Amino acid sequence: MSNNLDIASIRNDFPILNEIVNGKQLVYFDNAATTQKPRLVLDALSGYYEHYNANIHRGIHHLAEKATSAFEQSRRRLQAFLNAPLPEEIIFTYGTTDGINLVASSYGRTFLKAGDEVIISTMEHHSNIVPWQMLCEEKGCILKIIPINDEGELLMDEYEKLLTERTKFVSVVHVSNSLGTINPVKEIIAKAHAVGAKVLLDGAQASSHLHLDVQDLDCDFYSLSLHKIYGPTGMGILYGKKELLDAMPPYRGGGEMIKEVTFEKTTYNELPYKFEAGTPNIADVVAAKYALDYVDTLGKENIAAHEHKLLEYATEAVKDIEGLRIIGQAKEKVSVLSFVIDGIHHQDMGVLLDQQGIAVRTGHHCTQPLMRRFNITGTTRASFAVYNTTEEIDLLIQGLHKVKRMLG
Ligand SMILES: *Cc1c(COP(=O)(O)O)cnc(C)c1O
Repeated sequence: MSNNLDIASIRNDFPILNEIVNGKQLVYFDNAATTQKPRLVLDALSGYYEHYNANIHRGIHHLAEKATSAFEQSRRRLQAFLNAPLPEEIIFTYGTTDGINLVASSYGRTFLKAGDEVIISTMEHHSNIVPWQMLCEEKGCILKIIPINDEGELLMDEYEKLLTERTKFVSVVHVSNSLGTINPVKEIIAKAHAVGAKVLLDGAQASSHLHLDVQDLDCDFYSLSLHKIYGPTGMGILYGKKELLDAMPPYRGGGEMIKEVTFEKTTYNELPYKFEAGTPNIADVVAAKYALDYVDTLGKENIAAHEHKLLEYATEAVKDIEGLRIIGQAKEKVSVLSFVIDGIHHQDMGVLLDQQGIAVRTGHHCTQPLMRRFNITGTTRASFAVYNTTEEIDLLIQGLHKVKRMLG
């Protein structure tokens, strides 16, 4: 597939790509862990601190008004990004993990009871496993797991068998960080709704690769992190349907989330502030808007097409490497290439590639149960973003050959 992106000029937007690592120009293939930030996001961060740093919502001075307006503009920008019906359905969080914990703690504790069932999948990130385990332990609920096939695809027949009238919640990853699999979430949601269950999607990976439309998906909750979409660390959002968020109690207490406090009783603020206790991550929220503008300027379809080309190129190129096995060969997948090589431990692989200036992720990628499913302890994962090139993939392939000569 061709696309009209000028990758050389895009690379110029990311200052960090000029870094020299171990005497070599950095090759950054750890984008599924976090993406790099374009200059306009960095400028937005320093611009906020240099020109209008102030605490939001309560101040009436000029800087506070400017900061508040930029903060709320970001909320509307994220609303548009997800095609959410209302701005108050966008809750600012510290990231995907925080959003999932919010739902498990607030919705889960309020509406689930002993004997109710929660469904997740084999390919969940720990952040979409542990909060549900904690909830199930506390409430006496039952956690059920959708199995996968050897390609790394969910077994939808098995999923249907798990659904019963006791299923109250389904929480699945939209796109797997370890395998790249794009899950058939629309179907998952429709089937869950048919038995009356609510659905959360972990959108940490999907948000940088796929067009998102929460109304079309009809998901009840969607959690994501901006640092994986060329935005700052330490912030994300939780989308939730208004009627659900309205019915949910606050998750943390403090300033900002209240209407009135007396020692006898506190009344809570309305949405979205009810869930945003304390001073939020104002600078990062403000800068997030610029990351989304950047993505929109390039066009998500163009980004996806370029990444797809890189994935196909890399998938083909690694076929030459003897003993290499790709983990995750779903028909529908994003630009994540996870693999193991016979006789070479992933950790040694990571160290030796780093010596050549190539940043990959090695290990279990916060998906230990998934690694167990494949009978491995971890993989080497190269994950591609818009600024990566086929020349960099050639360097990776050379690097892998070198590692094989050294260790094989
Ligand atoms: C990164 C990631 C998370 C966790 O995101 P945080 O930003 O660390 O909260 C959850 N799920 C998936 C699929 C991820 O890739």
